[in-house]
Amino acid sequence: MRIGAVGELFGTDGVRGIANEELTPEMALDLGRVIGTFKPGRIAVGCDTRISSDMLKSAVLAGIMSTGSDAIDLGVAPTPAIQFYIKETDCTAGVAVTASHNPKEYNGIKFLQDFGTEFFREMDEECERIYKSKTFKIASWKDVGRLHRDDCKEMYVNAIVDSIEIDKKYRVVVDCGNGASYLTSPEILKRLDCDVLSINSSPDGRFPARSPEPVEENLDLLKKMVVEFKADIGVAHDGDADRAVFVDENGNFVSEDVVLALMAKYYVEKNRGGIVVTPVSSSKCVEDVVKEAGGEVVYTQVGSPVVAKVMLEKNAVFGGEGNGGLIFPEHLLARDGGMAIAKVLQLMDETGKKLSELASEIPKYHMIKGKVPCRDKIKLLEGLRREFPDANFVDGARIDYEDGWLLVRPSGTEPIARIFAEGKTKERAEELYNLGLKTVKKILET
Ligand code: MG
Repeated sequence: MRIGAVGELFGTDGVRGIANEELTPEMALDLGRVIGTFKPGRIAVGCDTRISSDMLKSAVLAGIMSTGSDAIDLGVAPTPAIQFYIKETDCTAGVAVTASHNPKEYNGIKFLQDFGTEFFREMDEECERIYKSKTFKIASWKDVGRLHRDDCKEMYVNAIVDSIEIDKKYRVVVDCGNGASYLTSPEILKRLDCDVLSINSSPDGRFPARSPEPVEENLDLLKKMVVEFKADIGVAHDGDADRAVFVDENGNFVSEDVVLALMAKYYVEKNRGGIVVTPVSSSKCVEDVVKEAGGEVVYTQVGSPVVAKVMLEKNAVFGGEGNGGLIFPEHLLARDGGMAIAKVLQLMDETGKKLSELASEIPKYHMIKGKVPCRDKIKLLEGLRREFPDANFVDGARIDYEDGWLLVRPSGTEPIARIFAEGKTKERAEELYNLGLKTVKKILET
């Protein structure tokens, strides 16, 4: 049931599974007891628009109150709005009930720290120990926690709008994908004085319009509406709106890596240097523009909580993933789809350039991704150390060359090795990919 492994229960971003089958209300109740035991006090819980979200959220709230902690029900809200609320109030922790971009039958439960960021790995491991040993705090009848209700959307929208200044009036199409962003993104854009056209903006856990994952092949309607509405940009979110992906004024999809590079460059230029944190699977175009602007890139393992953790440790100016997950640390140390729209508009406003022009200034690379069967991860990693002693081993092995790079990493959840290769030309990317493939086969067959 897991998507990304840490322990047996918690993946790289909380607990995920098919709702009411793999992720049951009983589990949600126990996870509520876990967080109430681990971070007692006031714990806020919000959810996305999935059909099973109310069921699971109710169980989490009950579990929290049974430990004696107060629970705050934030209702449906984007994950970054839940996170911002936790950061700004006296909450000791929080919970987001969401399966993010996963298919509609899934749901998930992830824990949040008092400053809004997801739990780090060691905290999830501690929670997994409490969960398995069932060493929950149990309050007496008179000490069970109380239920409060609050709204986190207004506070979140205000914080974004107040931090952004835009002179020009932009036209924007926003594709909420029937997810939680319908409550905040259209409002953010209106308050930034944009002409807004919202599509797929009714909450619907069946996700009738498109999959909750905002990948290019799901965005035909957005592309079409951008052209018809003569919009300056189009933006689409995943189910819980911590990710945002963009379409330019011509209706062309802008690669997530290009937007990541644009924002990284913008932040490093503004700060006259600084550290940008991104996973080892991100495009070299990010490092190219960051170095040119006088900054430095620090690579991490794949997964947004670890990016946030390293950003905190390194006091980074910016960070993010090549899937539309962008982290603006002065606002919130977590991926934030609402702030991503506002920042892209601010960059366009300050430079006076269209999104297609800005994107054309980012160095071009070709990336190839693939996978091969791999049952022996230790053998693979040991072999990679022998074959590529100078590689970066932060997550698998990443080998950088003048004109590209190769990454081989064993999957955390499946018996496969993932191979990523990127080159200045398609031919170079293919050459590096084949080198990866040949090396994996050589290691596993000897
Ligand atoms: Mg998400």
